[in-house]
Amino acid sequence: MITIAIANQKGGVGKTTTAINLATAMAAVGWRTLLIDLDPQGNASTGLGIGAVARDFTSYDLLLGEAELPRCTLNTDVPDLMLVPGTVDLSGAEVELVSGDRRTHRLRDALTDAPYDVCFIDCPPSLGLLTLNALVAADSLLVPLQCEFFALEGLSQLMQTVEQVKTRFNPPLVIVGIVLTMYDRRNRLTEQVADDVRETLGELVFEEVIPRNVRLSEAPSHGLPALIYDHHCAGSRAYMNLARELIGRIGAKETA
Ligand code: ATP
Ligand code: MG
Repeated sequence: MITIAIANQKGGVGKTTTAINLATAMAAVGWRTLLIDLDPQGNASTGLGIGAVARDFTSYDLLLGEAELPRCTLNTDVPDLMLVPGTVDLSGAEVELVSGDRRTHRLRDALTDAPYDVCFIDCPPSLGLLTLNALVAADSLLVPLQCEFFALEGLSQLMQTVEQVKTRFNPPLVIVGIVLTMYDRRNRLTEQVADDVRETLGELVFEEVIPRNVRLSEAPSHGLPALIYDHHCAGSRAYMNLARELIGRIGAKETA
């Protein structure tokens, strides 16, 4: 299983939208896909139509060792896409784990031998213990970056965290790519920022950009990935292309 953390400590940059739609796109092309909602906000769960009452066992139970992975996974409306939901309990996990055993490796331990081809982890907007668990569990990190003036601010802090995680816990961790989100072709600032980011980060940046697209923002209120809500919208097409590009970077699925 290839595990990909989707993280950026900046809020509202498109982490959850990317997690839901990229996971859906990977499932659509035949990858057995798991999405772990590791954010107390639970947006990925809501966006996949899993309401709070349906979240019996969650990523909190996984971290605290109170339930094993098969108990925590739920089917979604997307064939081949399973979800480990998240709830507000997760904000307590940060505190409860502080003095715990292997507190940075809880998620990694819980995912051992998971029967999926790919696992995405939707991280909260912080670099706390939850995101740390995701980075320790992951093979790679995917960073959504919103095309706005302060896009690059904070990225160096994220990079530093990645270096620390590599040194201390998870040497093979790589950044699989940075994806530009909420790209607005009519806005000159967007293009300037995109050019800047590509100049600074080079090939780390995916070719495909995710446009600002109202369908992407409407879909979660229907409890559906945009790819199901409106398969043909520009945002859905962009996420399908991003999935193809991602597969090009991580390699084809291992066939059992
Ligand atoms: P948080 O840091 O709070 O977890 P996030 O990084 O997960 O936020 P999202 O929740 O994916 O970000 O997106 C923030 C808001 O922007 C949401 O309302 C979402 O619907 C909207 N949004 C995300 N991507 C796009 C897009 N490409 N076009 C239009 N709206 C978008
Ligand atoms: Mg989010």
